[in-house]
Amino acid sequence: MMSPLDRVKDLRRRYPEWTPWLAVIGALLEEIEDPSWDAAVPLGTLSQASTVPLLAKADLQVDERAASRTFEKLTRAAARSSVPQMASVRSASYAKLDVLRLFQAALNRDSEGLQEFASVAGADPDAFRAVAALAAMPFLHACNRHWASSLPESWVEGYCPICGAWPAFADVRGIERARYFRCGGCGAAWQARCLFCPYCGTTDHEALGTLVPARSESNSAVDTCNGCRGYLKTFTTLQGSSPATVILDDLASVELDLAALERGYKRPSAAGYALDVTVTESNPVAVFARSD
Ligand SMILES: [Zn+2]
Ligand SMILES: [Zn+2]
Repeated sequence: MMSPLDRVKDLRRRYPEWTPWLAVIGALLEEIEDPSWDAAVPLGTLSQASTVPLLAKADLQVDERAASRTFEKLTRAAARSSVPQMASVRSASYAKLDVLRLFQAALNRDSEGLQEFASVAGADPDAFRAVAALAAMPFLHACNRHWASSLPESWVEGYCPICGAWPAFADVRGIERARYFRCGGCGAAWQARCLFCPYCGTTDHEALGTLVPARSESNSAVDTCNGCRGYLKTFTTLQGSSPATVILDDLASVELDLAALERGYKRPSAAGYALDVTVTESNPVAVFARSD
């Protein structure tokens, strides 16, 4: 098994044109491993209704320094890019931005809010939104580390039980072929029925199909739904991806996305469940100290 950083190098060899984005992903992987985000995981939210993600409506207390450091690190990696849109994310003026409100907008996948931040910062809006989405991930992965073993077994929704995102793909594991949805935001895995569309919830086998693109690897396919025209990539593996490699397995299988898009299938652009979290400073002392 290659380490996540070796996987990034491998992707850079296969797709040299992705180098700017892979530099940001490499920085993200280091941040995902950082245990300092564990302190921001809220306690005592594990008793919600069986259709509500654990982070929904959470009041999060986040250390502004941790959020700033993550943004700095990702935007510094973006700055090394020769692609002007990516580089604009770095040259943006961050001193003007309220980083905790920015973090809140990223967690809530608030694209209008992020668009405003991008224009204040003078950054390319799409590149800015993409980097902001990544900046929420170290916190989301910390939540998954804390909650993965206590996720409700009764969870049958198509969206993530932790962060409400739609699955990035499905793992079909082992000889019993158990199907798990995998979250591209927090890395979570949750068990799913074999014939079930995560987006519209249909279990009608007449509507559900499978595409096996000719050039794809034999362990991968695309599940399709003719009810909502949604698609989901599927990988047959022994154990499934580790949380940190979900984003890499998603990137590495882009030819499956292209095959599905060519046939008129797509993935929903909005989140599965709107989180609506509130983010406040966890360390007010630091704020006072700085304003001296
Ligand atoms: Zn998630
Ligand atoms: Zn569907």
